[in-house]
Amino acid sequence: MKHFSIVFAVLLFLLSNTLMAQGNYVLVIHGGAGNVTRQRITPELEGYYQAAMSRALKAGEEILKNGGSSLDAVIAAVVVLEDSPLFNAGRGAVFTIDGRNELDASIMDGSTARAGAVAGVTNIKNPIKAAHLVMTNSPHVLLSGRGAEQFAFEHGLEIVDPSYFFDQRRWDQYREFLRTTSPLRSQLNSEFSLGTVGAVALDMQGNLAAATSTGGMTGKMKGRIGDSPIIGAGTFANTQVAVSSTGHGEFFKRNLIAYDIAARMMYLGETVGQATNYNVMEKLRNLGANGGVIAVDKDGNIAMPFNTTGMFRGYIKSTGETAIRIFE
Ligand code: ASP
Repeated sequence: MKHFSIVFAVLLFLLSNTLMAQGNYVLVIHGGAGNVTRQRITPELEGYYQAAMSRALKAGEEILKNGGSSLDAVIAAVVVLEDSPLFNAGRGAVFTIDGRNELDASIMDGSTARAGAVAGVTNIKNPIKAAHLVMTNSPHVLLSGRGAEQFAFEHGLEIVDPSYFFDQRRWDQYREFLRTTSPLRSQLNSEFSLGTVGAVALDMQGNLAAATSTGGMTGKMKGRIGDSPIIGAGTFANTQVAVSSTGHGEFFKRNLIAYDIAARMMYLGETVGQATNYNVMEKLRNLGANGGVIAVDKDGNIAMPFNTTGMFRGYIKSTGETAIRIFE
């Protein structure tokens, strides 16, 4: 009888823990890292950014609080940011050297380790939806250019005229980039490319997902593909952690930043804070690379380090805790 009640108590304890864990969800978003300071952003513009990020958090939370998946939540949040001209993704994408918009996006489902991505697309309104379709409806992980566009069209995604992505502010930046001579170009390049978007989430079932979408870098060569559609560089998720990156893509690709964060947690037992800090504040910074990441682990711990003056970022948790920040 005594043994029986001990077993019963242990079962009750385990059950209540599982139920508690099932109640927790977290959503974190970013809208790019870069040289953002109070001098550069008017209070009015700051308000617009905050409103857009708040809409993105709400769109994702709506799904999570109703028991939806982290995958659907990151898509919903990223779509809101893609539809806003404020961010360098979807509607507000930056221009290539020949004055066009070529968009990249990727998504990963941590619970199944499935992933999808598109690169260099020019007429898909929401590239993140196309990345998701590649994951669910094709045998591949990454489709590029024409093939990706045709695939998206055939699966009923909204196709727009490339002029949909024209934004005057981005065009002016592009023109300024063209007027600038070589040594200063790389500085302008990262400054004008600000605004890649991403989201990571933990849902009530304990599943993690990550998504990233971008127009890339101002003045990039035609056909250049950044880190954002590269699984392991711009986006990664497994059963432990979900990561979305932003910054100078070439460095993120050479160093597989998103995967390295997951690897350090797996192999070294680092926390999400330690693993993200090492990659952003030490590794990338020592290489002279600007950027940041957002990450959430399976217990709902979040990290949002960046080595620039600012990063558009925000989070919302099932506890009610929420924040939206831009500067350090
Ligand atoms: N990572 C993006 C790229 O290199 C740009 C950014 O996040 O600012 O395409």
